Amino acid sequence: MKKALLFLLSFICIQVHSQQELPQDYFENPLNVPIVLAGTFGELRSNHFHSGLDIKTQQREGLEVNAAAEGYISRINIQHYGYGKALYIQHPNGYTTVYGHLQKLSPKLKDYLRKQQYAKESYEIELFPEPGELKVEKGELIAYSGNTGGSGGPHLHFEIRDGSQRPMNAQLFGLDVADSKPPIIQGIFAYPIGEDAHVNNSQNRQKLKLIPQNDGTFAVPEVEACGEIGFGITTVDQQDGAYNQNGVFKIESILNGEEVFEIKFEKFSFAETRHLNQLIDYEYYMSNRSRIQRLYKTPSNPLSIYGNMQNEGLLNIKDSLDYQYTIRVTDLKGNEKLIRIPIKGQISDKIVKREKLETEYLASSDNGLSAKGGKMDVYIPGGSLYNDTYLDINFSDDVVTVHRDEIPLHKNFTIGFDVSDLSEEDKAKTFIARVSDNGRLNYSTTYKKGNRFTTGTRTFGNYRLAQDTNAPSVRPVNFYDGQWISGNETLKVKISDDLSGIQDFRATVNGKFILMEYEYKNNTLTHYFSDDVVTETENDLKIIVNDNVGNTTTYTAKFFRK
Ligand SMILES: [Zn+2]
Repeated sequence: MKKALLFLLSFICIQVHSQQELPQDYFENPLNVPIVLAGTFGELRSNHFHSGLDIKTQQREGLEVNAAAEGYISRINIQHYGYGKALYIQHPNGYTTVYGHLQKLSPKLKDYLRKQQYAKESYEIELFPEPGELKVEKGELIAYSGNTGGSGGPHLHFEIRDGSQRPMNAQLFGLDVADSKPPIIQGIFAYPIGEDAHVNNSQNRQKLKLIPQNDGTFAVPEVEACGEIGFGITTVDQQDGAYNQNGVFKIESILNGEEVFEIKFEKFSFAETRHLNQLIDYEYYMSNRSRIQRLYKTPSNPLSIYGNMQNEGLLNIKDSLDYQYTIRVTDLKGNEKLIRIPIKGQISDKIVKREKLETEYLASSDNGLSAKGGKMDVYIPGGSLYNDTYLDINFSDDVVTVHRDEIPLHKNFTIGFDVSDLSEEDKAKTFIARVSDNGRLNYSTTYKKGNRFTTGTRTFGNYRLAQDTNAPSVRPVNFYDGQWISGNETLKVKISDDLSGIQDFRATVNGKFILMEYEYKNNTLTHYFSDDVVTETENDLKIIVNDNVGNTTTYTAKFFRK
C-alpha cells in the first residue's frame, strides 16, 4: 500500500512538474495582435515536426514583432530558404526565443546586420552577437513580420527553446490562444502487426467506419481481430479565429479502462524530428497525402513524444474475449474527442494475407546494400532504412530506378554514374537528376570526381544524367538600361534558370559590391538604395549569375541617380 501511494505521489509530482514549473508570465505575445494560429507546435510536416507556433499576421507583412521577454540577440540567421530572416533572443532565465520569416529587422538590428553582410559580401549570413552587444527589453521592437524563406504565406514563426536548444510548446508558457473547438477526427485505422494477426479477416491496414454519436463522441462498429494489432488516427485541431488545420496536442489510447498509449507534444529535439517518418504511415502518406499517426511505437523509433505506454501501445487480442478500446484526442484547453472501438477476439481461417514484396535486393537497416548495373551503382549505408526492406532496383540503359518514394530514408544513400564516355565539355554541363513522376528533371547536388559523378539523396525513385547548356536569365523589373531612377527606393531584377537551378549571384555598381536580397519564391533580387553604397550619378550595374553546372550570365546596365 505504501509503495503504491509513493508511486502515485511521484506520478502527481511529474504531472505538476511538467505543466506548472514552466514560467507562465515571463514571455508575452511577440505581436500586437491576438494570437491566431496557422500552425501549432508538433504539427506533422514533411520529414519533421513543426518546432514553433505559426502566428497569423492578418494576411499581410510588416506587423511589428517585439521581444517576448528581455535578453540579448544571440543569433541572426539570414537564409534564402528555411527560416528566411530569423532572430534569436537569449533570455536570462535560460530559454531562447526564435522569430522566423521576418520581412526586415528593426533599424538598430538592420544596421548591425548590413555592416556584416557588406563585410562578407553576402546576403546569406549567420551571426552570433556577444551578450553585451544587442540587448533588448521585453516588448521592444526587434523586427517586422514577413514571408521570407520557406514560408507559404505571411506569418510569424515563433519558438521557445529550452537550455539545450530543444523546441518547446510555446502554448505551455501561458501565451493565450482562444480555443473553444475540439479536435477533428478524420479517420481511424487498424493494423494487424503479428505474423498471424488479422483485423476483420485481413492482414492489411483496415480503415474503420466512424459513426458520430449524439454526445459528440464517435463509435466504430465492432472490430473482429486476433493476435497483435495496433491502431492509427488521422486528426487535426483548430483554434478560434481561423480554419487552419493544425496539429493536435495529445492523443491517448485506453484499453479496458487502462491507459496503454500516449503522445504529447510538449517538446522534442531537432535530432529526432525526422523520425516523424516512423510515427506516420509513410506509404499511406505518399499515396494519399494524409498522415496517419500510429498509436503504437515501431521497434527502432526513438521519439521522445511518447508518454505512458504498455507493450508499446500494441494490443494482444485473444480468441473469445471482448475488449473496449478508446482513443482520446485533446487540445491544450482540454477540448476533447473520444472514439470508442469495441473489439471481439475471433480466430479466423479465411484471412486475406498481407501484401508482401520479395525481390533480389533485401536491404538491411543495419548493413544497408550495394548494387551495380551497367554504368550505374547504388550504395545504401546502414542506418538509412528504418526496417529491413525488399527493394525494387532496376538498371536500364541510362536510368537507375531505386524503388519508389513510398519508403522513407533517414540518411542519404548514394547513386554513382561512370561518365567516362562523355567529352570533357559534356561532363562540365552534366548533372544527376531525379526524374519525377511527370518526367520533370530535378537537379540533385552532383559531386564530380574524374569519371565518376555521385549524388546523395534521401528520396527513392528514378535517377539519370541530364545536361544543362542554358545560362540563367536576368531581367530588370523596375528600371531599364540608361534610365534615370532617382525616385526609386529599390533596384529589382528577376533571375531564373531553366534546369539545374541558381547556384549563386553577385552584383556590383561601379565595381563596388551591392547587397541584393534573394527571394526564391518570386525569383527576385532586390537592392535597397537606403544602404547608401550607390552614391554617384552615373552607375554601371553588373550582375553575375551562375547555375549549378557553371553556366554564367553577366548582366550589365547603366542607370542614373541624383
Ligand atoms: Zn512555422
